[in-house]
Formats: sequence, C-alpha cells, structure tokens
Amino acid sequence: MSALRLALPNKGRLAEPAVELLRAAGLDFELSARRLTAGVANADLELLFVRTEDIAEYVADGLVELGVTGADLVAEHGGDLEPVLPLGFGACSLVLAVPREGDVATVADLAGRRIATSFPRVTARYLEGEGVEAQVVEVRGAVEVTPQLGVADAVVDLVATGSTLRMNGLRAIATLLASEAVLIGRGGAASDDRVPPLVDMLRSVLDARGREYMMMNAPADSLARIREIIPGLSGPTVMPLADPTQIAVHSVVERSQLWRIVPALKAAGARDILVVPIEKVMR
Ligand code: AMP
Repeated sequence: MSALRLALPNKGRLAEPAVELLRAAGLDFELSARRLTAGVANADLELLFVRTEDIAEYVADGLVELGVTGADLVAEHGGDLEPVLPLGFGACSLVLAVPREGDVATVADLAGRRIATSFPRVTARYLEGEGVEAQVVEVRGAVEVTPQLGVADAVVDLVATGSTLRMNGLRAIATLLASEAVLIGRGGAASDDRVPPLVDMLRSVLDARGREYMMMNAPADSLARIREIIPGLSGPTVMPLADPTQIAVHSVVERSQLWRIVPALKAAGARDILVVPIEKVMR
C-alpha cells in the first residue's frame, strides 16, 4: 500500500503543536530547514508542509489523504471534508464584533451594514440563519481595524483571549463557531485502513494530556472512601501490602482535579502519594 500523505501547517500558531503531537505519538521524522516534506522513518507516512489556510483544499482535492488545520478553516472551505479527530490545541472562537461606542448592539442592527471578515462563507451562512441582510466584505488580515478605517460597521474575526478586539475598541456580540485544530480527511476517510492506527496513536497522546497516574498507600479500611474520591478509568487498582492492614491504590486522575483530590485522599487516610505523568492512554 502507498504511504499515507498528511498535510501540516508550515508556519503559524498551529505548526509547532502539530509537529509536537506527531512526535509525542512516536513518529520519527526530521524537519529540513525548508520544511517542504518529510518522510517518517517508522511509519508508512509522508508529511507535507503547506500554508494552514491551504490545507482544507489539499485534502478536498485528494492531493493528501489527511490534514491538520483549524476547524474554522474547514467550516469556511465547506467542501466534502470530515473531521477525523479534534486535536485539543489552537482553540479560538469566530465572533461577530462591533464598535463599543456605536449604534449596533444586536445582529439585527446590522441590516444593510457592512461586515468585514476573512470568513465570508461562514459569515454569509450565519447572517442567512439570522435572517439579516448585510454586505460581507472579504478582507485578508487586520480585520479588526476595518471599523476604525470606515471600511466596515462590524467584523467577524477569530479571537482567543479577546485582547485584540478590546485594543481596537470592539466588543463581541455573538459567537459563530468555536474552533480548535482538527485532523481532517475527505468524506469517508475513516474507512481507509491506514487511518485508524494513526488516529489511535494521536488520540492516546491527547487522552493522556490532561491526566496523571496516582499511587498511594492507605489503611485497608479506608478503601470505600478512597473509591468515592477517585473513580479512575475503570476503577482504581488495589493491591495488598506486606502489612495486611494496609493497601496500595493506583488510579488515573484528571490533572485539573488534583488540587481537590489530594486533600480529600489525605483526609481519608492516604499517604505516600505519588503523582507521575502518563504518556499515552491506549483504549
Ligand atoms: P496562523 O494564522 O497560521 O497562525 O493560524 C491560523 C489558525 O490558528 C486559525 O485558522 C485558527 O484555527 C487558529 N487560531 C487559534 N487561535 C487563534 C487566534 N487567536 N487568532 C487567529 N487564529 C487562531
């Protein structure tokens, strides 16, 4: 079978996290200075590095089987593309924003006005859904300054923290979509036999990212309380110790819950608590 081709962002904010994820999944490849293509030493996979905004088109045209890009760009492309796996980085929202000191307060107020965006299709679909007729002005880059330039009355733009909007005197009045980086293929991509092994490896890394492995010793009679505190992936592992009144308990826990779990475990009698990183969770 021929090598599976995967298009990755060659620069920009999704580029490094995408490469990092593939490496964490165990793929062995070298990046050349020009970053055009890379062969993978331990998998039948070829990496192609292209502009983030071109990746949906590469996949839709069948030049590559898979790609990593933003869900926002997939929505804008609108072709026969299938999100195969959300990748947990590059989170942002596509929002409708208006000047803070203006006369537009709601979507309905935009009737007959101009909206600047790099996402004309998503914006047009949204306006249609809202029953508002407005003019969509396509701009590339620096969308947020267009109201100050008198080019538009509102913008539809990507935001992560909202600080760029604030700096430009804008406020968001609606969210069109929430985005993150996604692995995409053409419709039916998941039925290609070469795809599931790659997806499983990537997913195992993503599943491990927010989790830790926790080990502790505790009095045997505290097990019921400990079990309530840490349900684990399929319940904690419980092992006897040389002292029959004591047990060892191991479990996978959400990292975000540690601050809550540890004091509760101590109160239940647990001690010698160890927390270690998890590399992959294979299901
Ligand atoms: P790039 O312009 O190449 O850095 O990447 C643009 C992509 O990064 C967008 O299409 C989004 O999917 C994603 N992204 C994540 N956060 C942001 C943000 N604050 N602004 C713009 N794009 C973002």
